[in-house]
Amino acid sequence: MNYGKITEETLVIFQKIVSKENVSVDQESLEKYSYDETPHGLRHCPDVVIKPENTRQVSDILKLVNKHRIPVTFRGQGTGLANGAVPLYGGVVMSFEKMNKIAVDEDNLMAEVEAGTVLFDLRQEVEKRGLFYPADPGEKTSTMGGNVATNAGGMNCVKYGKVRDYVLGLEIVLSSGKILMLGGKTVKRSSGYELMHLIIGSEGTLAAVTKVIIKLIKLPKRFITLYIPFDEANNAVKSVSKILKKRITPTAMEFVEREVILETEKQTGKKMPHNESEAYLIIRIDGDDDTILFEEGEKIANICLENGALDVFFADSKERQHRIWDVRSLFYDGVVKNKKNIEIIDTVIPPSKIADYMRTAKKIADAHGIKIIGFGHAGDGNIHLHPIGDGLSQKEWYRKHKMVMKELYESSVALGGTISGEHGIGVSKKEYLQIGLDENQISLMREIKKIFDPNIILNPGKIFDME
Ligand SMILES: Cc1cc2nc3c(=O)[nH]c(=O)nc-3n(C[C@H](O)[C@H](O)[C@H](O)COP(=O)(O)OP(=O)(O)OC[C@H]3O[C@@H](n4cnc5c(N)ncnc54)[C@H](O)[C@@H]3O)c2cc1C
Repeated sequence: MNYGKITEETLVIFQKIVSKENVSVDQESLEKYSYDETPHGLRHCPDVVIKPENTRQVSDILKLVNKHRIPVTFRGQGTGLANGAVPLYGGVVMSFEKMNKIAVDEDNLMAEVEAGTVLFDLRQEVEKRGLFYPADPGEKTSTMGGNVATNAGGMNCVKYGKVRDYVLGLEIVLSSGKILMLGGKTVKRSSGYELMHLIIGSEGTLAAVTKVIIKLIKLPKRFITLYIPFDEANNAVKSVSKILKKRITPTAMEFVEREVILETEKQTGKKMPHNESEAYLIIRIDGDDDTILFEEGEKIANICLENGALDVFFADSKERQHRIWDVRSLFYDGVVKNKKNIEIIDTVIPPSKIADYMRTAKKIADAHGIKIIGFGHAGDGNIHLHPIGDGLSQKEWYRKHKMVMKELYESSVALGGTISGEHGIGVSKKEYLQIGLDENQISLMREIKKIFDPNIILNPGKIFDME
């Protein structure tokens, strides 16, 4: 791809638009914005990092880079797991960290949130008003812009859905610099193509997201957590669809294998209430009525006990629940941080097929002499499997894990699933996209990209290649 270069003159104009302090070209900044949280992910430095403070500045910068055909990669907090925020072709990284205003609209049960707002701050701001934004990606330092761009998921999808289900409006800036408001503060709409939903999940390849209008719900009065050990992983995952079949939809239903807990405890020094069984379900339920809530907890406990659970630990105090969910939020670090040869898989399948998928996955891994361990969102069929190549040379690992990944993606599609449930395609899954989508869909997406971004400057090299 032939892109324009950033000259001294362009840098001066950038500084005029956003002020000098918001334009960085020193090596330390360029390196800081060169990667995301993908395990052993790519690193590519941009030529400049720009931090706009408002939508007008985003628009002026985009007009300029579009004119000179300079690539631009949008960035929230770089917590993505698909190399999505890595500036593959250099150019500009536009970081939204300085756009983080939150305006809660209690009359309409909505909030208007700037793209760089960190999820943790948003949750605090709404929860102190008794309101709830249930979309819950595990990484609370991620931003609303990043969450919209990846259509993030997380633990609460089983009951509350994904980010898309809470977005009512988006302010976006096109590559031409045009500012558009898609949707708004209406609960429903039926007015032509829903462009807003096209932007959600587009991974920064169609437009910059500058503001998000989200709907809020009432904060449930009470949460309780069940921590359930199983003698076999298969029994744990089979219990998930048994629970759903009984018309019970917990807030979250997470699965974890023992090895993940042991690794996390070792790395972090934090402890789960129990770590001696092969696998666990961690289930959170919420509600306003204690009697109904505890009855539901009992029903879940009984279903699990009938299906191979060894015991059920109830945690109802805030402290005991926090202890469990704190460790849960460290599983990724626990598993990934000290491993040389590791990958993360984000396939999603119908929840009733998880047991079949796990069995197939272990067979695939065994056949290639690779280990596989998993944890994740069992309630919505999105368990993150981690192929691990302990003791393999880089060369062997590279060859083997590519085959394992391909076969895992194929088997998830064969079971009615797809290749990414929540992390997006980015660069990491680009070569596997045609396993999940047919060529006609990918061609249509390329045509859409050309309409939104004719100069191919927005996050080039992500999702699919254009040339
Ligand atoms: C420990 C851990 C746990 C995680 N758990 C979950 C989980 O449970 N569920 C889940 O879905 N994800 C999870 N993630 C992945 C990650 O947090 C999400 O993908 C998140 O949405 C990324 O947000 P971000 O602000 O860090 O975006 P970045 O990583 O900065 O960017 C992600 C993508 O969004 C684009 N983008 C960012 N901001 C904008 C914008 N304003 N306009 C247009 N495009 C933009 C980028 O170009 C890139 O393509 C986890 C990550 C970690 C490290």
